[in-house]
Amino acid sequence: MPEENGDGRGSGAGPQNLITLAELDAIPVDKLTGVGDKKSKGLAKAEVHSLFDLLTFYPRRYLDRTKERRIDEMTEDEEASVLVTVVKSTSRRIRGGKVMVNITVTDGNSNLALTFFNQAWRERQLSAGREAMIFGKIKYFRGQRQMANPVVDLVGDKTGKIIPVYPQSEKSKLQSWDIAGFVAETLRRTLPPKGRGLQDPLPMWILDEHDFINREAALRGIHAPDSMGEAMAARKRLVFDELFRMQLALVLRKRMLEATEVGLEHLVDGPLIARFREALPFPLTGAQTRTIDEIFVDLARPIPMHRLLQGDVGSGKTLVAVAAMLASVDGGHQAALMAPTEVLAEQHFSGIRALLGDLHVPDPSNLMGERPLKVELLSNRTSTADRRRILSELLLGQVDIMIGTHALIEDKVRFDSLGVVVIDEQHRFGVEQRAALRDKTDGELIPDVLVMTATPIPRTAAMTVYGDLDVSVLDELPPGRTPIVTRWVQAPGSLDESGSLDGADELESMWQEIRSEIANGRQAYVVCPLIDESEKLEVASAEETFDRLRAVELEGLRVGLLHGRMHSNDKDETMTRFRDQKLDVLVATTVIEVGVDVPNSTVMVILDADRFGIAQLHQLRGRVGRGEHASTCWLVAEATTPDGESRLEALVASTDGFELAEVDLDLRGEGTILGERQKGRNDLKLASLRRDRTVVADARRAAIELIDSDPGLANSPDLMSELGLFLDETEAEFLMKG
Ligand code: ADP
Ligand code: MG
Repeated sequence: MPEENGDGRGSGAGPQNLITLAELDAIPVDKLTGVGDKKSKGLAKAEVHSLFDLLTFYPRRYLDRTKERRIDEMTEDEEASVLVTVVKSTSRRIRGGKVMVNITVTDGNSNLALTFFNQAWRERQLSAGREAMIFGKIKYFRGQRQMANPVVDLVGDKTGKIIPVYPQSEKSKLQSWDIAGFVAETLRRTLPPKGRGLQDPLPMWILDEHDFINREAALRGIHAPDSMGEAMAARKRLVFDELFRMQLALVLRKRMLEATEVGLEHLVDGPLIARFREALPFPLTGAQTRTIDEIFVDLARPIPMHRLLQGDVGSGKTLVAVAAMLASVDGGHQAALMAPTEVLAEQHFSGIRALLGDLHVPDPSNLMGERPLKVELLSNRTSTADRRRILSELLLGQVDIMIGTHALIEDKVRFDSLGVVVIDEQHRFGVEQRAALRDKTDGELIPDVLVMTATPIPRTAAMTVYGDLDVSVLDELPPGRTPIVTRWVQAPGSLDESGSLDGADELESMWQEIRSEIANGRQAYVVCPLIDESEKLEVASAEETFDRLRAVELEGLRVGLLHGRMHSNDKDETMTRFRDQKLDVLVATTVIEVGVDVPNSTVMVILDADRFGIAQLHQLRGRVGRGEHASTCWLVAEATTPDGESRLEALVASTDGFELAEVDLDLRGEGTILGERQKGRNDLKLASLRRDRTVVADARRAAIELIDSDPGLANSPDLMSELGLFLDETEAEFLMKG
């Protein structure tokens, strides 16, 4: 045992009586002096219940008083902050019932007029005599200095050079300096000389490698820095802590599964695979070959595969899935493919059956010693008789490849020996549904799982969201595709009150071009405005658009309508007619978003395109550009927000899903990506998958290195127990049992 180093650094190296995060978490925040009933309610509203919550309630930003200016030093249009005292405040109503608040402030030398539009509460907030730090751009108007809608921070204690500004809301009735006070009190009691000191479970070698400050210094530095540099160093350390804990949990989970689960050792060079490769009508892309190799390495090992296959629309994921499934069949086992919609399941079924139609599998009970490889489809549309037959054949091992929708995870469905599970468009299925399908086998060994998604997410985000999966990427499209040209038509994308879609010459020439494409034998999709609030409204608007287009813009053409409220037989019929080129145009809601594959369609029109997210637009666009003919995607929208505009511009500029995913992450932030995955307690309070991209990768590397050298973290008990603080119960139980 090394000597105690007294500074709380290093796992297990510090004195045993150092304060842990768990300990801080066990102390309610209202035990602090000064936290009365009212403030404790406000804190609770801000999710601050314990001292741990308080110390990790971080400043939103800092007022750097070293950068402060005097009013008469500021030049027009310069952005700067000034410490002021309110002289007087008034308000009046202006046009449209809005309120304008006028505040006169002074820095002791000069006056400045502040105006706030539609923020009536400012009059109360900035009453005469109040001190505030304001930040904004100075304008000169009729010889008077003015600032419109500046950022305002009420200042309490002004002794520090750097003043932390905490998130505050009207609701919680807490001022930034209240929180600063509580934090200071907590730090005083925790850190020496008064407190016992804070434990730092991060191993020394990680601190050294990244030049991190210790946890005490980091918490002091984030809440009460003496310089902005100190605040930055603190942030760097604390961000790493968050991402490192997350990666530790994910990597531990992955290793735990690998150590405890026993899977099949598949035959990856069997006769079916060989014949499949020979019979392919085209060579595999480099990315397909590489991905299949990666998967085969997994399949051949006795450890069950948990792999994510990310590939842009049209990158050829299906073939990769088929190769994996055939490996299972080659070894005498079965395979299952689950798709999120009936249309997709049916498409997979007919495509895969056509691809594998001539293959045979050994069958000793047959005179010929073999029988045709059997692919079946199970969906809610399967008749009762068929269903009964399929289920019994499935249990007898006579169905080799089972394709279906959610119907596959119903109780009655059992496999004789399921070897490989493929889940298409994974974002539509929850983790539970993945697991449910995997458990459907009477075989003793755990099937290998491949999940596929066409919604690329940036690599660092993938490490967080799918950190317990291995990831393969299909980053190459099959040759011979003509790139899709995307054009943004700045015109209203929905019917106006008079039921008209007019609005711009550009729009008219768009329909003109579409009509001539169709005259050349091609087909087109028109996607109707997305209405989030109600499917009913969306369908109604789609029906109106359909009527209008048929009567005017697309008059004389064969137009079909597809939406989510149609009976599935009708949907199917419409889809089939479109596929068979009995329809020229398909007017649809987003039901056509995923997987629909009609190579003869070369035109995609998306109305009110700014209502869709980047990923969704990219998916929709992926419905064209699937054949030999050049394709066009028309985005019709008058972008009403800067974000909407950026989204449309991104789509016009790039057809690369991964590039778009990065833009998307920049625009939307990580909440949406993490959303589905976030279990247990939210530990990402400071870290941002966007800003801290490189730290995610650093944290993952460090987590892997640590766990490799210390599986199960037996030698890092402090780290392990800290981890327990952030996991939900089942997760904690699972990881801690090792
Ligand atoms: P996705 O990744 O979107 O699921 P698919 O598997 O549906 O893509 O493949 C899209 C189209 O590309 C299909 O028509 C498929 O037959 C074709 N395809 C797949 N791989 C290749 C290849 N290596 N060369 C040529 N075409 C291919
Ligand atoms: Mg697909």
